[in-house]
Amino acid sequence: MDLSIVIPLYNERESLPELTAWIARALKSFSYEIWFVDDGSTDGSWDAIRDLAVKADNIHGIRFRRNYGKSAALYEGFAAAKGEIVVTLDADLQDSPEEIPEMVRMIREEGYDLVSGWKQHRKDNVLTKNLPSKLYNWTARKVTGIKLHDMNCGIKAYRAEVVKNIEVYGEMHRYIPYLAKNAGFGKVGEKPVHHQKRKYGVSKFGLDRFVNGLLDLMSLWFLSRFGGRPMHFFGTSGILMFLVGFVMTVWIIAEKLILQSQGLKFRAVTDQPLFYLALVALVLGVILFLAGFLGEMISRSASERNRYQVKERL
Ligand code: UDP
Ligand code: MG
Repeated sequence: MDLSIVIPLYNERESLPELTAWIARALKSFSYEIWFVDDGSTDGSWDAIRDLAVKADNIHGIRFRRNYGKSAALYEGFAAAKGEIVVTLDADLQDSPEEIPEMVRMIREEGYDLVSGWKQHRKDNVLTKNLPSKLYNWTARKVTGIKLHDMNCGIKAYRAEVVKNIEVYGEMHRYIPYLAKNAGFGKVGEKPVHHQKRKYGVSKFGLDRFVNGLLDLMSLWFLSRFGGRPMHFFGTSGILMFLVGFVMTVWIIAEKLILQSQGLKFRAVTDQPLFYLALVALVLGVILFLAGFLGEMISRSASERNRYQVKERL
C-alpha cells in the first residue's frame, strides 16, 4: 500500500464525511488507508467514523476511552499504519489533502525522510495564533537547528521507517521533526500548503500551549544533548559552582588572615555578603553534583539505554 493517512481528532464530527470525500478526490492515483484516531470525543465523532468505515474497507478507526491528547492519538495511528508513506492530517478541514501527492513525490524522488507543511498564509487569529507562532518557530529553529517555518504543522508526510522509530509522547507532537532528527532521520523538507479557516467546531489548543511548548522544547534539547550522559551536564556545572564558592571562601579567609597578621582592621568572615554567596555556591555545587549522580542512575536503568538506530547490516 502507498499511503497511510493518520487523522487524530477530538470532537470533529461535522468535518469527517467531508474530509473523507476530499481525501478520496485528492488521492485517486494512490492506494491508501485512513486511520481515524478518536481521542475520546464526546460529540458523536465515533458514530461518524463507524458510518464511514462500513462504507469503505480502507477506512479504520481507533477510539480512546478518554481524551489523551494529539500526541497519543498520533502514536497509536503510527503504530497501526501499514503504508509505505505515512501522512498526518488534522481533522478540521484546515489542511488540504490536495497537498499530499506533492509531499509524497518529494519523499520518493528527492529522498526526504519527512516533509512538513508550512501554513504560509495562516487562516487563524492573528494575535493569539499567527504572531506567537512566528516567535515560537523562530525559537524552535534556533534550538533544534532544523530550518522549518512551521514545525507544528498538522499536515506532514513521513517515510514509514521514521514513524516506526520515534516515540511521540506527552505533547511532543509539536516537535516530531526534532524527534526524527534525533533518531537519525535528518533530511527534513518543507512544502508551503494552503490553509483554510476552521469550518466546524472549535480549536482545541489555547494560549497555554506556548508555555508548555517552550518547556517541552527545553526538555527535548536537554534530552538530546545530555539524556544519555546527565553527569556531563550536572557534573560540569556542579564543579564550576563549587569552584566559584571555593575561591570566594579562600579569598575571604586569606584576606582576613593577612589583614590580621599585619595588625590592620579586619572584618569577621560571617560579617560580609561574600561569605553568604560563597556558601550558596558551595551548596549548589554539591546539589548539582548529586543531581548528576541521580541522573546517571536513572539513565543506567532506563530500558532504552542501548537502543540505537541501526541503518543497515550486512
Ligand atoms: N486533537 C486531538 N486531541 C486533542 C486536541 C486536538 O486529537 O486533545 C486534534 C484535533 O481534533 C485536530 C488536530 O488535533 O484534528 C489539531 O487541533 P486544532 O485544529 O484544534 O489545532 P489548531 O489548528 O487550532 O492549532
Ligand atoms: Mg486546526
